[in-house]
Amino acid sequence: MSNAPLPKKIDPRKLADRGVQIEGEAEISSFPNLVTMLTDSQSTISVDLQFDLDELRIRTIKGNAAGTVNMTCQRCLEPVEILVEANFNLAVAPTEEHAKKLPKYYDPMIVGEEDLELFAMVEEELILSLPIVPYHDDCSVQTSFGDEASSNKETDFDKPNPFSVLASLKADK
Ligand SMILES: [Zn+2]
Repeated sequence: MSNAPLPKKIDPRKLADRGVQIEGEAEISSFPNLVTMLTDSQSTISVDLQFDLDELRIRTIKGNAAGTVNMTCQRCLEPVEILVEANFNLAVAPTEEHAKKLPKYYDPMIVGEEDLELFAMVEEELILSLPIVPYHDDCSVQTSFGDEASSNKETDFDKPNPFSVLASLKADK
């Protein structure tokens, strides 16, 4: 593992042609949009990306970005540690037209003439990987909704299901 800082801007075409691997740690503050969804900005994200040419000479970016972040538990409203992991399986295309012709097993990544903002790309995938409703797996606080739902379940379990009664009536005929 290298401690070299991650480059902010990259040319994925050149990196793919050379088969370069980019590996390193990024402060969570490098991802300003992601930080707004967290309770603090103390974490780091490990990034490991391999740029390559596949057997069809398609330029690809594969790898992952992962770290532990703190979000607000939606049950007790205390911070909860969330392991966030984004996986990349991208194919670089210069235009929308080219992107449509790429094999479906890749996610297209359109990169025009400009360099690619590495942090923005990683951030987008990390945000998509966050849980929509974060909560402690063993959260001690039960919402009133949760209590009601579970007690309803128990009652339902004791009563015969009206639909299964109907089904057996039909079967008798
Ligand atoms: Zn909780």
